[in-house]
Amino acid sequence: MCVLILGGSADANQLASAIVGDPRFDAILSYAGRTENPKQPPIAWRVGGFGGIDGLIDYLRREKIARVVDATHPFAAQMSAHAIAACAALSIPLLALERAPWQRSAGDRWIEVDDFVSAAQALGAVPRRVFLGIGRTQLAPFASHKQHFYLVRLVDQPHAPLPLAAEMIIARGPFDLAGDRKMLTDYRIDIVVARDAGGDSASAKIEAARELGLPVVMVRRPFIPARQRVETVAEVLRWLCHGETPAERGV
Ligand code: NAP
Repeated sequence: MCVLILGGSADANQLASAIVGDPRFDAILSYAGRTENPKQPPIAWRVGGFGGIDGLIDYLRREKIARVVDATHPFAAQMSAHAIAACAALSIPLLALERAPWQRSAGDRWIEVDDFVSAAQALGAVPRRVFLGIGRTQLAPFASHKQHFYLVRLVDQPHAPLPLAAEMIIARGPFDLAGDRKMLTDYRIDIVVARDAGGDSASAKIEAARELGLPVVMVRRPFIPARQRVETVAEVLRWLCHGETPAERGV
């Protein structure tokens, strides 16, 4: 069975590792190409957009894809919407592997907002020292809020200037609590901006902010149309093997 795994999350790579060598599946992992040296999966992989919904439909037909697993980053809403539309057009079963959002714990001081423009506004008029733990693509809304000091952490050294004045750390996750606590302390950060990615690999900054008593402006996940979704690799494997999710089995 030819399976397309839409990647971008650590879960996508875990699924690739779980499926490799299984003679029942011929799987390929697709990356958007957002990082220069993506983690090389143990299965076949490709990089780059498909060319919208029509391009994805062509690809699914050409490669005779029988199942699609959407394991993109929770903020990659366009890719997820395209997958829903293309799979519906071809009647190809689609399952999303999506980690649960982070849960507020005692001591968390979250300011929840719907998007990055609102996140920038939530920083307020008074100058703050801000850690932007949101990747590279959503920095522009902060550029007009010049009163703040910004610390940005990116996977790759950018080839073009950032849209805002910021200090930069180049580092690839997963990050740990001790390291993120030290970073926030060393840079005298007094507020963190994060997107609700869920999972473990980016959660250290949230735990560190909690320990240090810092507020976190938390950007909620974007809207994605309804689709079948599970949270674990094991559930994806069951779906691939038996064609149903635990919810469908009434579990
Ligand atoms: P997006 O807005 O959902 O996708 C934009 C376009 O990128 C898609 O329409 C598709 O192009 C292409 N694309 C996205 N994921 C792909 C995949 N797995 N394989 C092939 N093509 C893919 O997603 P985004 O622009 O990548 O990112 C949106 C947000 O998610 C950003 O905030 C970003 O930082 C965050 N994020 C993304 C990734 C990632 O790996 N994509 C990882 C971490 C965080 P076509 O229309 O041409 O097919």
